[in-house]
Amino acid sequence: MLEEARRIVEEYDSSNLSIATLGSHSALQILHGARLEGFRTVLIVDSGRRRLYERFNLVDEFLEVERFSDIGEKEAAEMRRLNGILIPHGSLVEYLGYEKLSGLRVPIFGSREIVRWERDWRLKLRLLEEAGIPTPRLYNSPKDVKGPAMVKLPGAKGGRGYFLVSTSEEAEKGVEKAVEWGLIENPSQAIIQEYVIGVPMYFHYFYSPIYNRVELMGMDLRYESNVDGLRRIPLERFRVEPSFVVVGNIPVMARESLLRKVFDYGDAFVETVKRLIPPGIIGPFCLEAIVTDELEVKVFEFSGRIVAGTNLYLMGSSYSQLLWDKPMSTGRRIALEIKLAAENRALDEVVT
Ligand code: ATP
Repeated sequence: MLEEARRIVEEYDSSNLSIATLGSHSALQILHGARLEGFRTVLIVDSGRRRLYERFNLVDEFLEVERFSDIGEKEAAEMRRLNGILIPHGSLVEYLGYEKLSGLRVPIFGSREIVRWERDWRLKLRLLEEAGIPTPRLYNSPKDVKGPAMVKLPGAKGGRGYFLVSTSEEAEKGVEKAVEWGLIENPSQAIIQEYVIGVPMYFHYFYSPIYNRVELMGMDLRYESNVDGLRRIPLERFRVEPSFVVVGNIPVMARESLLRKVFDYGDAFVETVKRLIPPGIIGPFCLEAIVTDELEVKVFEFSGRIVAGTNLYLMGSSYSQLLWDKPMSTGRRIALEIKLAAENRALDEVVT
């Protein structure tokens, strides 16, 4: 699809491009950014959502589908007619799935192939390890568990389906139950990771193929129910299991001494993706980490595209302000990169 996407974008009228996305996740930010950079905007909606997006007056063309999972050649053709470049986000990937997304005949701003790596835990951790980025220790068997550990069942969404154990016996029992309840088919499907005690910090980056540099767009803390709510009740009186369902995002500035590590890991990630999944990262990505009291940054997850935590910074974060000195959200940064690519006749470098 890479060659096909490049061929399509080369035939576009680059002075009349559209930015398209799906009505969910970070769509408002993406549309807002596209408008600020002077693009026509296209939004794919199901009938239930159209009214919501009309309220914000950020959409020039709606493409309506019955269900998001119906998106296919008809919508792709319409986007091509409008010289559209599709901006992927977590919900688009979720609704379309890797197979559909990889075959969709419309230029996408970002890597399609990284989705395949993200949905496979072993590939995901391999990528981080190859980049030399510290990750939480992985236990090959529940028997090896020593100290706090997190059992992650594949397909868990938004932290649902994770549970904590503190001994090998608990880990074995938990995995057995997951098989019994049909949550996994066999014990080897459960990922058992060291539970890192610290603060969950999510670092939002942008890799610019045009400037060939990694930019720090912002960062956020996850607020999760009920692990973050537990401190409000006397734990000796209630037996409550922590859960990790994201309920909100909190803006944060890292202590300045952490920033070197944050940039080193971002750079290493970009280099490694370029090597393992050509043509590499294009635009936004996120490293999701726990920062410990020894100021270690242990990355347990990444996202190869815009994350919802960037919605905090519609008018830019303190970090993007330092670089741009004007309101620069990730949504706007995407549009700016497309504009720069079009001006430099390099649109083929920013799509797959
Ligand atoms: P999302 O869809 O939002 O990315 P998810 O289902 O992929 O969620 P994660 O983001 O991987 O879930 O993890 C959910 C939460 O679990 C994290 O925000 C963090 O609080 C906690 N967590 C995950 N792995 C670890 C770990 N190894 N040590 C400590 N906490 C962890």
